[in-house]
Amino acid sequence: MQVTPLVLVVEDEAPIRRFLRASLPLHDYRVVEAATGAEGLRLAAAQRPDVLILDLGLPDLDGIELVRELRVWSEVPIVILSARDQETEKVAALDAGADDYVTKPFGIAELLARLRVALRHGARRTTADSAEFEFGDWRVNLSARQVVVRGQEVHLTPTEFRLLTILVRHSGKVVTHRQLIKELWGESHEDAQHTLHVHMSQLRRKIETDATRPLYLRTEPGVGYRIQQERPV
Ligand code: CA
Repeated sequence: MQVTPLVLVVEDEAPIRRFLRASLPLHDYRVVEAATGAEGLRLAAAQRPDVLILDLGLPDLDGIELVRELRVWSEVPIVILSARDQETEKVAALDAGADDYVTKPFGIAELLARLRVALRHGARRTTADSAEFEFGDWRVNLSARQVVVRGQEVHLTPTEFRLLTILVRHSGKVVTHRQLIKELWGESHEDAQHTLHVHMSQLRRKIETDATRPLYLRTEPGVGYRIQQERPV
């Protein structure tokens, strides 16, 4: 990764671009901007940014379309900016290959946390996957299929272990219900979402101190789940 990562901001609202142009360089990012989707695609190819910040509501093409076009030839991490009334579009963009999102209005601390996670994953895509992960008071070794919670090894069912593996491989990032269902069972079935919730609550009971207020296995309402890596901001 470069010392000063390059962020491409694709956003038609000038005040948000101005805010990002002013604040990101204070946190050691370089910024290039596009006000349309077409310009965004052109700059993504020409400048090879390290990460993209993408508004879903663009004047010329919608953000989901841009994610799809970009994913044909680029693995660049994409953090979506979405409005409260764009829940469906947000999930569709994540399913299309976007990495994460923040909801407008957002604070710079929240956005910076998402960028850090996205960049870590961008870097990891090119390196060998590690098998051992530590989260606060528990850890998992994916190759040994071993989970140790507060010093005690816990037994997971095969489905719980696979669910945990998917979230760990994407740790810090949101994984949508649809992505989880597809990876766990291939095709979706009528009760898939409910079954997923059941496996998740069992997993939480085994890992979390308080399964009703999970610290690590977090719910993203209406979207999916994520494993919390950093302290909430
Ligand atoms: Ca917009």
